[in-house]
Amino acid sequence: VVEFDAADVRRDFPILAQEINGHPLVYLDNAATTQKPEVVIEAIADYYRSDNANVHRGVHTLSDRATQKFEAARESVARFLGVSDSREVLWTRGTTESINLVAYSWARQQLRTGDRILVPWLEHHSDIVPWQLAAQATGAEVVPVPVTDRGEIDLDAFDELLDDRVRLVAVNHVSNALGTINPVEEIARRARAAGALVLVDGAQAVGHFPVNVEALGCDFYTFSGHKLFGPTGIGVLWGRGELLDAMPPFLGGGEMIERVSFAGSTFNALPFKFEAGTPHIAGAIGLAAAIDYLSGVDRAAAAAHEETLLAETIARTADIPGLRRIGAPTRSAGIFSFVMDGCHPSDLGMLLDEQGIAVRTGHHCAQPLMERLAVPGTVRASYSMYNTLEDVEALVAGIRKAHTLFS
Ligand code: PMP
Repeated sequence: VVEFDAADVRRDFPILAQEINGHPLVYLDNAATTQKPEVVIEAIADYYRSDNANVHRGVHTLSDRATQKFEAARESVARFLGVSDSREVLWTRGTTESINLVAYSWARQQLRTGDRILVPWLEHHSDIVPWQLAAQATGAEVVPVPVTDRGEIDLDAFDELLDDRVRLVAVNHVSNALGTINPVEEIARRARAAGALVLVDGAQAVGHFPVNVEALGCDFYTFSGHKLFGPTGIGVLWGRGELLDAMPPFLGGGEMIERVSFAGSTFNALPFKFEAGTPHIAGAIGLAAAIDYLSGVDRAAAAAHEETLLAETIARTADIPGLRRIGAPTRSAGIFSFVMDGCHPSDLGMLLDEQGIAVRTGHHCAQPLMERLAVPGTVRASYSMYNTLEDVEALVAGIRKAHTLFS
């Protein structure tokens, strides 16, 4: 067994070394956003300190330097996702914009009345609402795929829904509300065999385990930099080249054109066709720094460590009366979502904050899932590789204290 030194990794993240309300910070809101290692903060500061210029087209040295770093960041993301052609890697503001890009450029162009988009009940709103908007515009239909009480996609029900009306299956790789690791490889295999495309929302996956989009067999993959120890405001859409080539532009403006005239404009090649305007240059560079940082981390050991933290949390809270874990996925990426009798999730969240413990409460942008599991919301503790057993102990002690206060 590889021992993962979480305390060592933790020292790379300066924000974690502080007290909140007189207690050491216990940061368990990693599914909302992850913290940034010093090297990422430095890469962003360095860029602004030494290289800041607008990218592409510039004839001067700084612009050339900024362009090289920006495009090298794209290459890093391509390698990170196992993509051989970095022109298939598009910069966006994040997962939400990536999904909207596909919903506008692909779905509005391709879908007709009677077509279907399958979306599991456990999706984040950003993998539901863009499809509803596209469906309204085209006459297509968004059809939910059932999930079980454990919070897993019901694959038999999925099979029954897979007919020739289905044009797209949009599924998250990991559920942000429950931590379920979905069998996206199997889902993609079945969907593509039925003639549908597959979009995988990887927002919650990339921070927990390596991803290879070719091995997954999907058509689009999206993630946000800020859930991968990188900055906010930058994200990625990977799509198969032939699909992206055939799709019309999303946003119009500078950078995305080949030639503009009032008689009509022509568009740039990939990836620039989808990157209108000045991009988030520092964000891309910061994200590449995060990827570079992760290359020095034993990710299998980190994932095993997170699994241990979750297992310990489940074991150590098992005897707390009235506490109920919501969902019990067989494979889970470090998320403990729960409710406690007599204690509203937001009250519990505030009580934990008083003890320096950061968790998230509410519906987690997954209202259909909350409805399906018949809870108004949950308290969600989400682990990352820099969390420790002491964090688990603090959480469990915090919950016990709340239990005493409320009962
Ligand atoms: N999908 C999932 C599964 C998520 O967890 C999130 C973020 N909570 C998103 C999509 C949206 O990501 P962003 O807000 O970075 O666009």
